[in-house]
Amino acid sequence: MYEDEASLKPSDGYCCLVPGCKAVPFKRNADLDRHYKNIHRPAESKETYYCDYSKCSRRNSPFHRRDHFRDHLRDYHKESIAKRGKPIQTNWSESNNVRKEWWRCTRCLKRVMVASNGFECPGCKTARAQPDAKSSK
Ligand SMILES: [Zn+2]
Ligand SMILES: [Zn+2]
Ligand SMILES: [Zn+2]
Repeated sequence: MYEDEASLKPSDGYCCLVPGCKAVPFKRNADLDRHYKNIHRPAESKETYYCDYSKCSRRNSPFHRRDHFRDHLRDYHKESIAKRGKPIQTNWSESNNVRKEWWRCTRCLKRVMVASNGFECPGCKTARAQPDAKSSK
């Protein structure tokens, strides 16, 4: 075994070039790419969630975590949004926040306009749980 020689080889793998990163070299470029995206996401490419309520103060100061945006929508705007990992539990007949014009995608938290997109989110193809017309009183 020529361990020294092997460790000097630059072709040993794709090393993360971020200073201080302890990640072991990746076998494939795609893996390194994913590492960059997951671990070293530059600020600009971070997910941003702008509140889409026109009068909301967070309209111009976006959330960077979906969880926070979701909490905001739920707590501040009283939207019926399922908590993380839980199915949406909306009582359609009782909820006073169900609008006919749009609904909130539970996955990507975007508004989906019923008129143009119906009941499937154009972004992630998540279908809205539809109110059961038969059981409404
Ligand atoms: Zn790294
Ligand atoms: Zn808001
Ligand atoms: Zn979606």
